[in-house]
Parts: sequence; C-alpha cells; structure tokens
Amino acid sequence: MVSIRKAAPHINLNLNVRGMEQSATLKINEICRQFLREGKQVFRLGLGQSPFPVPTPVVEELKANAHQKDYLPVFGLPQLRESIANYFRRTQSLGCHPEDVIIGPGSKELMFILQLVYYGDLVIPNPSWVSYAPQARIVGRQISWLHTSLITEWKITPEEIEELCQSDPERPRLIILNYPSNPAGTTYHVDELKAIARVARHYRIVLLSDEIYGELHHSGRHVSIARFYPEGTIISSGLSKWCGAGGWRLGCFVFPKSLYWLRDAMGVVASETFTSTSAPIQYAAVRAFKGGLEIEHYLWQARRILRSLGRYLYQKLKKAGVGIAEPRGAFYLFPDFEPFREKLMKKGILTSQQLAERLLLETGVAVLPGHVFGRPLEEFTVRIAYVDFDGARALSAAEQIPQNKHLNKDFLYYYCNNTVTAIDRLCDWLCG
Ligand code: GLU
Repeated sequence: MVSIRKAAPHINLNLNVRGMEQSATLKINEICRQFLREGKQVFRLGLGQSPFPVPTPVVEELKANAHQKDYLPVFGLPQLRESIANYFRRTQSLGCHPEDVIIGPGSKELMFILQLVYYGDLVIPNPSWVSYAPQARIVGRQISWLHTSLITEWKITPEEIEELCQSDPERPRLIILNYPSNPAGTTYHVDELKAIARVARHYRIVLLSDEIYGELHHSGRHVSIARFYPEGTIISSGLSKWCGAGGWRLGCFVFPKSLYWLRDAMGVVASETFTSTSAPIQYAAVRAFKGGLEIEHYLWQARRILRSLGRYLYQKLKKAGVGIAEPRGAFYLFPDFEPFREKLMKKGILTSQQLAERLLLETGVAVLPGHVFGRPLEEFTVRIAYVDFDGARALSAAEQIPQNKHLNKDFLYYYCNNTVTAIDRLCDWLCG
C-alpha cells in the first residue's frame, strides 16, 4: 500500500506551520553564502548581524569559562541575573532585581515562549521584525498590525493603539515595541514613549519592549519605556547586537513583579524545552553586562561608526530621490522606492520581492523586501542592513581619529567600502 505520508509528507505538518518558509533573515544569508561559493560578488546587506567583534574582556571571560559544563538553573546563572539587574539599574534607573531576569538562548526563543504561554493577541507595528508575526502564527495567535508610514518614521502613535483597543477594550493583548527599530533604524522620543505608555496602561496591555538595539542608539541616549509603564513592561535584550555576539545566542527578559506569572509560565516551558542556556556563554555575559571603561569605549566607537555611516547612506539615498527616514540607532535603513515606480515597472518589477531579487541579480546587492516585515507586497520598500564591513578594522582605524572629529566620506569609503559601494550601485541601478 502506498503510504500517504510517503507521497506527500508535508500534509502531516502542523497546520500552523504548513506552507511556511525559513525566516527571511536567515534565508538571505544562505543565498549570499551560495553566491560567494560560486565566486560571484555579493554585498551582504541582508542579514542584520553586528559587524563588530565581541569586546576583548568578554572574549577573555568566555575562554576562562570554557570548562563550565554543568546545567545551569532554568532562569539563568544567578550572577548573570544579578549583573543584568544591575545593568538596568545603572543605565535606565529601573528598580530591577535579579529575580526579575530570565536568560534564554537568544531573545528570539524567549519571545516565542512568551507568545506560547500568553493567551492574548499579538499587536505589532507595520513594519516589524520578520519573526514576530510568524511566531504568533506558529502558536496560533491572532495578529493585529498597527499602521505606520514614512511620514511618522515608521513609528506607531498612541492614537493607533487607542483605535484598536476601543473596539474591544477587555481583550488581552501583547504589543511588541522595538526601538531603535529593526527594520527602520528610527527610535522614539521620550514624549512619544510616555504617550504610548499611557494608552498601554489604560488598556492593561502587556508590553514587550524589544530593546536589543538600545545600546546602539547612535548618540547613546536610549530610554526604556519601562520607566513610564513599569508594571506592564517586559524588557527584551541580549548580547547579539551591542556585543557583536549574535552567534553566541544569549538573550534576556526583565519582568516587573506584576508579570511574574508570565515569567513562571515561561520557566515551565523553558524547563521542558531548552533546559538552560549554554553555561560558558552565561559566565562571559556576566562580564558584558558589568560594563566598565573598556566596554563603554568600544560602544562609543561602534556608535560613532554606525552614526556616520547611517547618516551618509541616508543622505545619499535621499539625494537620489528615495523616500527614507533618518536613522537614529541600530544598523538599518528602510527606504521606499515609490518615486521610482514607473521606472521599476518598466523593468517588469511589480513587488518588493521582485525588487530585492532583481537588485541582487543585477547589482549583487542583497537586501530584504519590505513585504517580509509586513508591508504590502506591491509597495517598493526594502530593508538595508548596513553591516557589510570589517568592524574590527573600522574600530581600530576610528581609534586614530580624534574623538571630536567626524568620520568623513574618505573614512567610510576606505573602512566600510562594501557597504558604501553597495549603496552607490543601488543608486546607479535606480537612476541609470
Ligand atoms: N535580527 C537579525 C535581522 O533582523 C537577524 C537575527 C534573526 O533573524 O534571527 O536580520
């Protein structure tokens, strides 16, 4: 007898997962690797990975702890929970305690588990990072998108939240706010955060504040919304972005006491799934969150490079006629090529997917289509991760330039060459 399973194995997949593909961020990375293996030139502006090395003291700490082999507590290494609580006390003046903190193998995993244990709808800005919505889909949660536009720098407004909640005020909701933003590179002002906090409090929304790029605010002035809505905010952070350690997979959540019921439920799932996060990495992370002069200096230079590069690319694209918001943090730009619609359509390009594909094929520049961040398929937005350069080399070159001096065009062409060249190519392709 021919088994159905053999003929079409996919039909036995969980209905929520059926038809889904691997995450766009990871897929573009594979495509770039394939291009490189084939000897083709490729500019890697697809995956959002920090170009900078892990700071030396943190690497040293990892080496010194390679022998740590025991399973650690589900919620994390006590010293690390303490170090993270101290970090948020120090940097955000929050009254955090070690018990508020849980550690996971990347904040992405923690987000997934949160969505699994919390029963409310997921509410996210459009555009949002590629994995929030798929995670909700996998666990079968309803998703509501909040409208944003280039005019508001792709940021949500309290009015949007109000409008959504008014129709069904008692409905449980989880909002994910991510700033500095992936994919837009923009961030919220204190007044905007306060206004969002007010609506969130009114509707008793659980707010997951994804602050993974907080330390990469270009002027080092990130403010956590937990200051204005402490009782309803869970802060999400980790080592991936500011510490250049995406592959180490270490994330953390910080809970207020009022949401310990969610923390505890996450602990149950964690204990039945990943058990605990890699021990050596946790020991090294204690050092990272402890901070100090060397790490502050590293961050200062990293921000300086990202600020100069982000601004330069922004100006270049704007001058070429592209719709774009000025970057304030992280390493992303989210341009809209709407002004080039006619030209693009003449090339047979009708969607952001086709736009990204043709750009890659014809210029070697890899970016992600706006569609994977929730934007309409026919909108000509893409995400640029301006990270294709050797961060270690750029950091040591920046050291040689006095701190009060700007990192100019020559610096950027020399030390961030692939990234700047990629944007030149993109502009030539658009305007040519
Ligand atoms: N956050 C990164 C990005 O948006 C990649 C990490 C991931 O998707 O797991 O490109």
